[in-house]
Amino acid sequence: LHIPPRQPGKTRLGVMGGTFDPIHHGHLVAASEVASVFDLDEVVFVPTGQPWQKAGKQVSDAEHRYLMTVVATASNPRFTVSRVDIDREGPTYTIDTLRDLSRLRPDAELFFITGADVMGEILTWKGTDELWGLAHFVGVTRPGHELTAPVGSSSVSLLNVPAMAISSTDCRARVEEGSPVWYLVPDGVVQYINKYGLYVQEKHTSTTSL
Ligand code: ATP
Ligand code: MG
Repeated sequence: LHIPPRQPGKTRLGVMGGTFDPIHHGHLVAASEVASVFDLDEVVFVPTGQPWQKAGKQVSDAEHRYLMTVVATASNPRFTVSRVDIDREGPTYTIDTLRDLSRLRPDAELFFITGADVMGEILTWKGTDELWGLAHFVGVTRPGHELTAPVGSSSVSLLNVPAMAISSTDCRARVEEGSPVWYLVPDGVVQYINKYGLYVQEKHTSTTSL
C-alpha cells in the first residue's frame, strides 16, 4: 500500500464525493478508514450537483442531500461538508470539484476517495490527465465490485476497508417498500427521511416549501 509521506506545513484533506441520496454507513466507514490509514486531518464530504452519470435519473433535491450529509457527519470532529458542487451550475465533474477545493484550500494536499465501482470509471471522466496532479486517489473495496487501479494512472492507492454491503439505491427501495433503514444509515438520517417523506413519491416535500 502506497501512503504518500506527510508534506511539512500541509493539511491532509480527504475528499469524499457522492450523490449521498441518502448518505449511509458504507460512505462513513470508507471515509473513516481512509482518514485513519492515510493520517488525514479532515475529510470533506462533497454532495454532487446533478451528477452527469445519473442524468435522466431522478435524484433528490440537492438541499435534502446536503442536509442529510451534514446530519450524518456532524458528530465527527474531522468530518466536514462542502457546497462547492451543489452551488456550481450544471452537471458535476470531479475535475471541477478538485480545482475548486485546491483554490479554496491552498494549504491542503488532497486525497480523493472512491469506491471500487467508481474507480473503474475514472478513465471515462473529463480531464483525466490533470486529475492525477490535483489529488492522490484512494480506491476502497466495495462488496460486489472488483478494485483495480485505472490503466496509466499515477498517484493511486488501493485500500481494503470493512465490507459494507449497503447502497443508496437499496436504501431508497427499502424506504419506498416500507422496509426499515435503521442501522444502514445514521439515526438522524432515518429521522430526516421520515420527516420530509423522502423516497415515498406521494409524501415528498421540499425544504424550500416550508
Ligand atoms: P447509488 O446506489 O445511488 O449510486 P451509492 O451507494 O453508490 O449510491 P454514491 O453516493 O453513488 O453511493 O457513492 C459515493 C462514493 O461512495 C462512491 O465513490 C462509491 O463508490 C462509494 N461507496 C458507496 N457505497 C459504498 C460502500 N458500501 N462501500 C465502499 N464505498 C462505497
Ligand atoms: Mg453509486
